[in-house]
Amino acid sequence: SSFNDYKLSDEIVRAISGLGYQKPTEVQKQVIPIALEKKDLTVKSRTGSGKTAAFGIPICELVEWEENKPQALILTPTRELAVQVNEDITNIGRFKRIKATPLYGKEPFSKQAAQLKQKTHVVVGTPGRVMDHIERGTLELECISYLVIDEADEMLNMGFIEQVEKIVQKLPKKRVSLLFSATLPKDIEKLCHKIMRNPVDIEI
Ligand code: AMP
Repeated sequence: SSFNDYKLSDEIVRAISGLGYQKPTEVQKQVIPIALEKKDLTVKSRTGSGKTAAFGIPICELVEWEENKPQALILTPTRELAVQVNEDITNIGRFKRIKATPLYGKEPFSKQAAQLKQKTHVVVGTPGRVMDHIERGTLELECISYLVIDEADEMLNMGFIEQVEKIVQKLPKKRVSLLFSATLPKDIEKLCHKIMRNPVDIEI
């Protein structure tokens, strides 16, 4: 199979080949077509499998450039992962001029607030700082149509699951939710049950 099978726009296909990706990885083969159909997904796969592009490609394809408010929220357990995912989204969305904004602690809140006042399609952040921005009114959620919870088992290990759930409760009900995790412990399954509608389960 090839990236041409998914009927992606030219801008996205061009960016993918610019990154040197010649064909989809296993997780991408499974996730991209289903995510493009806007179905909820629970994906058991590990880092190194190409999971970031598995959600990054459909998100960059589906967001509308014209909309000024954030349309996708990607939650990561660590700042390092937020930075990496933000970079990957920026690269995939390059020719569509997708703007991604990273939100994490240990960087001035005011600098991030200023970035959020500019056009932002995708927000990538850690739960604590994302919640700060929601509570202080600097991150608007009403146009969020895509949610990704990345490395959910790490979120659990780090004690972030309750905060993740609180953030998700504030999002519009009409949305697509994708959860990625290397393992699916009971508490993650419970979270999926609470926040998703008939998710498709994928195991790589
Ligand atoms: P990830 O699992 O998202 O951390 O990705 C692992 C690595 O695989 C990253 O360096 C990506 O740039 C790379 N990658 C992702 N998708 C592909 C692909 N389809 N072909 C080749 N490399 C890829």
